Amino acid sequence: MHDGRPQISLTFPDGNARSFPSGVTPADVAAEISTSLRKKAISAHVDGRHWDLQWPIEADAAIAINTMKDEAPALELIRHDLAHIMARAVQEIWPDVNVTIGPVIDNGWYYDFDRAEPFTPEDLGAIEKKMKEIINKRDVVSTEVWDRARAVKHYEDNGEPYKVELIGSIPGDEPLRMYWHGDWQDLCRGPHLQHTGQVPGDSWKLMSVAGAYWRGDSSRQMLQRIYGVAFQSRDDLKKYLNFLEEAERRDHRKLGREMDLFHMQEEAPGQVFWHPDGWTIYTALQDYMRRKQRAGGYREINTPQVVDRKLWEASGHWDKYQHHMFVVEVDESRDGENDDAAVRNKAQTRINALKPMNCPCHVQVFNQGLKSYRDLPLRLAEFGSCARFEPSGALHGIMRVRGFTQDDAHIFCTEEQIQEECARFIDFLAGVYRELGFPEFEIRFATRPEKRVGSDESWDYVEGALEKAIEAVGRDYTLEPGDGAFYGPKLDFYLTDAIGRVWQCGTFQVDPNLPERLGATYIAADGEKHRPYMLHRAALGSFERFIGILIENWEGKLPFWLAPRQVVVASITSEADDYVHEVVARLGAAGVRAEADIRNEKINYKVREHSLGKVPVILACGAREVEERSVSVRRLGQKQTTAATLDEITAELERAATPPDLL
Ligand SMILES: [Zn+2]
Ligand SMILES: [Zn+2]
Repeated sequence: MHDGRPQISLTFPDGNARSFPSGVTPADVAAEISTSLRKKAISAHVDGRHWDLQWPIEADAAIAINTMKDEAPALELIRHDLAHIMARAVQEIWPDVNVTIGPVIDNGWYYDFDRAEPFTPEDLGAIEKKMKEIINKRDVVSTEVWDRARAVKHYEDNGEPYKVELIGSIPGDEPLRMYWHGDWQDLCRGPHLQHTGQVPGDSWKLMSVAGAYWRGDSSRQMLQRIYGVAFQSRDDLKKYLNFLEEAERRDHRKLGREMDLFHMQEEAPGQVFWHPDGWTIYTALQDYMRRKQRAGGYREINTPQVVDRKLWEASGHWDKYQHHMFVVEVDESRDGENDDAAVRNKAQTRINALKPMNCPCHVQVFNQGLKSYRDLPLRLAEFGSCARFEPSGALHGIMRVRGFTQDDAHIFCTEEQIQEECARFIDFLAGVYRELGFPEFEIRFATRPEKRVGSDESWDYVEGALEKAIEAVGRDYTLEPGDGAFYGPKLDFYLTDAIGRVWQCGTFQVDPNLPERLGATYIAADGEKHRPYMLHRAALGSFERFIGILIENWEGKLPFWLAPRQVVVASITSEADDYVHEVVARLGAAGVRAEADIRNEKINYKVREHSLGKVPVILACGAREVEERSVSVRRLGQKQTTAATLDEITAELERAATPPDLL
């Protein structure tokens, strides 16, 4: 093919190159290869960029034609085309509705509409039906680049003010691209599928409607956002919907209510009211961490929560972090007996902040008294209660809160000690995760960012130390180049829960900056003052969030030693009441959390109720058990009961109630 146009060379994934006239489209290229590829093609990658089949290629390039078998482009296009198809369906049903934007998101897409009446669940059904009709029509998708004036006029004529505003915010040098799905048109960067029939008819679903402000601005119009999910196949959709159901069944907010663990209320947004059973989990976990840290060579400290802004100014938090801090003003003229409001003296107002993190306070402890190199490494741990003003929209049960307690520690050490301390911490964290039921975790290694302080040599040294530490403990990591803090690299630790969700919990961060800002020094072997490094580290993150993860991971059925209610001893007849109390006392003496249920109810009723409360073991006692000094054992999740003597069950449960680090 030679029609006078300049020729370009396209290189295929197998390494072969062929010559085409400049301006050739991937659709033409696919047709040259085979008719079936021309039909099956969904898009191309041209020099790595996702490329519409209709877009011309003007210069030599590497090209790959995508089909539905290519997961990433297939998912992107299915979801993106569905966003357009949904908007078209909405405007076909309700022509007055204004369209705005509709991006692809994880697992699907959304589109924001301006419509006076709210969309109902029945409306979603009608939209889905209309979308299926559009898909069945196999309408051709076409595209053109327009100039600005024409595009603006088009949208003004069609009464689409949001699109006019959008055009205004697109950089002037960017071409405006229009797409048509049949006759329905939208402003869009593309790429898109060849025709609506390429979208699978049964691998997607409309999920929900939510309010969303235009451009996320609460002073602008409230729009209605319709969410959809889409996959390559019906099976994938089914799997995803099952996953959602599973996640809902495990939701810690629901389980927290059912198990009576905690509540939250309006007067203290983002802060937890722990109930007795919830606090039992919390303290069991905290006791465990305290023992682990003590064994790991940490010294526990405790520091103030209300701290003068001067310290936050010195640490740099006041500048960088103030919008996340709870600020507390105190009129110090009220000091002592003088509480007359009239004498309130502005000059005596002290501005404090609730600590959003413990680090600056830990440096204050380090700074007391002269430190020598022989004191290093100094590992200071605190179950530090912090407060952060998180946006209300981000709050989520006990997992994203404003008041929380970290399993925080700071290690003050020399540069040469960083590697050893890092290796020790990874081993420490691995032990904690394993004992808490998460044998697998991933390390992500965030290295030097563009904007940073410190010399390249010192970055080389510290990054090298972390790398060698990870190697020394026989682990792998994923590199996150450029994601470190401006003063040092960090490791983040991600664990995977029972349904495959990934949670970032632990962190390890090297910091030469805060000791510098807050004037921390030690006397080195050379007799001179040196700056220590400060290593920030946490294994769980916060107790609140980690308990949320534990509840969801175990679907409320926590490992026996962490279960707030471990055993209910239930009477079958009232003749067994005394024996029930004896069993409870015996278990209690063995360190097992046991309670009696001698209500005048049927045993099946009691079993059902305590099973709902996720009590792992129910011991039923009737006349025979009294006679034989035995119990009938019912374990959570098992249908059959087994018999055991009181001695046997006491020994077994005593062991089960022992935290893993004490076994
Ligand atoms: Zn689009
Ligand atoms: Zn810290």
